[in-house]
Amino acid sequence: MSRIIGLTGGIGSGKSTVSRYLAKKGFDIVDADAIAREITAPGEEVLPVLAETFGADVLRADGSLDRKLLAERVFPCPQAKQRLDEIMHARILPRIIARTQASRASLCFMDVPLLFETGLDRHCDETWVVTADLATRIRRTAARDGTDERHIRERIASQMSDEKKIARADRVLDNSGTREELAWQIDELLKAYE
Ligand code: ADP
Repeated sequence: MSRIIGLTGGIGSGKSTVSRYLAKKGFDIVDADAIAREITAPGEEVLPVLAETFGADVLRADGSLDRKLLAERVFPCPQAKQRLDEIMHARILPRIIARTQASRASLCFMDVPLLFETGLDRHCDETWVVTADLATRIRRTAARDGTDERHIRERIASQMSDEKKIARADRVLDNSGTREELAWQIDELLKAYE
């Protein structure tokens, strides 16, 4: 059985960058966002549930999910957001747990944006959180997604704060500096498992 490490971080922190670095080093990664895309591919069982709950137009004529429309519809309404999370998490969480437990690599990283919020951290041997200062997170997210600062601030405000994540995590990667500095910190953490 692998050692399971939960990897999380708020938007723009650099979680995906860390995840890619670890994958390149040959570790197993179970990616929650990839599983979310997998279970919402055309023909999947959850699509009619989403159409019934949030409106038939969240499905395009070709049967694919209009993620942007769904997000726009759900984000302003906390109850709708909660309902969507319930529908998705009921399907995603068991897959994440099964895949990490089936891993044969020495280390398996569970890459999950809502690691603590969903309680998935309880299925990890330890947890790492990626952080960066707020201005850096906003600047990098804006450059990556082309979204405006107000929108990004709203997203950040709706997520669990970095302070709370840091308090709960076993290890912290501070990505306020360069990519090289981030890689160095990851390598330092990995030394504990050599
Ligand atoms: P997250 O997955 O946490 O939202 P990403 O890993 O996608 O964040 O990083 C956000 C953006 O910032 C990406 O475009 C990424 O390439 C870039 N980035 C990440 N770390 C650094 C860094 N240390 N220096 C400069 N750019 C970075």
